[in-house]
Amino acid sequence: MIKDGLLDTIAAVATSCGVAGIGIVRISGKDALAIAGRIFVSRDKTGVFDFKTYTLHYGWIVRPGDKTIVDEVLLGLMRAPRSYTREDVVEINCHGGIVAVRAVLELVLENGCRLADPGEFTKRAFLNGRIDLSQAEAVLDIIRAKTDGALKLGSEQLRGALSSQLRKIRKIILDQLVVLEANIDFPEEEIGSADLKVIRKRLEEGGLLLKELLDSSAQGRIMREGISVVICGKPNAGKSSLLNALLKQERSIVTAVAGTTRDTIEEIIDIKGIPVRIVDTAGILEPRDLVEKKAIQRAKRYIDLADLVIVLFDGSRAFSCDDQLLIKRVKNKLALAVINKIDLRQKIKEARIRENFKQTIRISAKKMRNIKLLEEAIAQIVYKGHVIPAEPILVSNIRHIEKIKKAQKLIAESLSSLDNKVSIEFISQDIKDAIGYLDDILGRRFSEDLLDKIFSRFCIGK
Ligand code: GDP
Repeated sequence: MIKDGLLDTIAAVATSCGVAGIGIVRISGKDALAIAGRIFVSRDKTGVFDFKTYTLHYGWIVRPGDKTIVDEVLLGLMRAPRSYTREDVVEINCHGGIVAVRAVLELVLENGCRLADPGEFTKRAFLNGRIDLSQAEAVLDIIRAKTDGALKLGSEQLRGALSSQLRKIRKIILDQLVVLEANIDFPEEEIGSADLKVIRKRLEEGGLLLKELLDSSAQGRIMREGISVVICGKPNAGKSSLLNALLKQERSIVTAVAGTTRDTIEEIIDIKGIPVRIVDTAGILEPRDLVEKKAIQRAKRYIDLADLVIVLFDGSRAFSCDDQLLIKRVKNKLALAVINKIDLRQKIKEARIRENFKQTIRISAKKMRNIKLLEEAIAQIVYKGHVIPAEPILVSNIRHIEKIKKAQKLIAESLSSLDNKVSIEFISQDIKDAIGYLDDILGRRFSEDLLDKIFSRFCIGK
């Protein structure tokens, strides 16, 4: 932990830039009150040092020299240690818009503050021991949350759900380490077989709890990062209509994302709390020219990268060799068969499709029939953990998962070492290392590099 008084006083704009009702300049550090006192005049002329914590004051920001008024503001005060950073924090609510906020920030900087680095307020909350590292990372998850589900996940983590579980596991493992280490120090007091049994049982319990965390984190990652779904099907099967139907049903998180190429369209929608990136690929199957050949190659690549492929069939047309080709193309992928146009007379042989897919859903994109059912199926597949995201994006999550995996592996090794009567020194070293990995997540041990990596992804002012 950083001792009081070692850190300088920082300031930044905490709201986003642009025309808005208010803009907030946030100051944190030991000189926060003194600096605010230099530039703030309250209506009732009370000095900043006399303000009680958690109070809001009406007044003006004035230039210390010529006393010109810069802005009419509300000044909020949170005294250390009960503040976001555990330091004295002053928040100046100015008029929104770029000019007023910037003028106040400049004045604050001229009077002794340093401009905060990205995430530095949260970094201080961590360094001053108010939150652990996994909670600091949760702040970032909350800011970046794309769906209600992701927001809930981040809030839980910030509340300390992950930390308290990790601390619980850490304690279980540590208690066993203490017994084993005592034996190393006093070898004459050999651990009895009954004690060893207890140690084994407790370690096993710790390992299981780690596994549970891992299982849930795979799903957590999906909720945070979303999955990618590709719709493929022959021309006129109704791919665009299906994308539109899904968009009509759910709100789009990002509208009309231009596909990377003209022959694909991407949208991100919220399906039962999961951000789903849906790509509608070109329906070309047999290329007529080089351009089409390239389009097919791209579509193939999308299919390769997708977490889930929706293979769309036109129910009003007979099963064709194009359909057969598609089935072949998605053979090794997690795929869901969807028969479209059930409002028309059906010509397709469903049996041909059913024998190739685990699940088939019948819809009408045009008449909006069974679209909810399709969403249900997508969510089911995701939540059952069948989907493993092709490429993890959020480093913080991967960081946790990697550490937990390593800790779990070491606990498993220590268990088999116990069974094989390996020397206690070896076993206790494995357990120590496992605890070390948990400490990495909680931030009980950390490097400056790691902190830089985590906090540089924050915005300034948080
Ligand atoms: P894409 O080439 O696969 O993207 O297909 P489109 O979405 O452009 O649809 C091709 C044609 O099929 C359009 O005329 C749509 O109106 C029609 N269509 C799509 N879905 C349905 C459906 O469920 N029922 C009926 N009757 N027509 C549909």
